[in-house]
Amino acid sequence: MRNLIVALFILVLVSCGHQQTGHVVYNSDKVNKGGPTDIEFENYIVDFEIRTGADVSHVPVQFGDLDNDRVGVCYSWASGARKIVIDRNQWYNRITELQREALMWHELGHCGLNFGHNDTVRPDRCPVHIMNWQLISHFCYNKNYDDYIRRFLEDM
Ligand SMILES: [Zn+2]
Repeated sequence: MRNLIVALFILVLVSCGHQQTGHVVYNSDKVNKGGPTDIEFENYIVDFEIRTGADVSHVPVQFGDLDNDRVGVCYSWASGARKIVIDRNQWYNRITELQREALMWHELGHCGLNFGHNDTVRPDRCPVHIMNWQLISHFCYNKNYDDYIRRFLEDM
């Protein structure tokens, strides 16, 4: 029984950001499960659901304070619970409106659709996919917008 409890408390942290990547096993006492979605994110989530047809209502999205220049994380518990935390300072002060959408699609790709990372780079040196480990730049997202959306939808 004790092992079962320990197993349930292990979660996978998907780190996304400028310098952070990979999947890290974390102890769940660092993160509280559940909670409401911050109102700031609701329009992005509705837009995502309409355009992808996915239901991500089981994934709360909340502001937090992330370290190491991370912009967002998808927390994934063995129980199936998911939660996205977005760094408040990055959201308001460090990224553009277009990047906010890319960030939401990236994290909802992890937490809502179980997408991993795709770190392939295009000939123009922009990432091939929104699921690149680094948050996509405003320049690249704007330049290749239709391609990013098309690729994302194709992977569903
Ligand atoms: Zn990621």
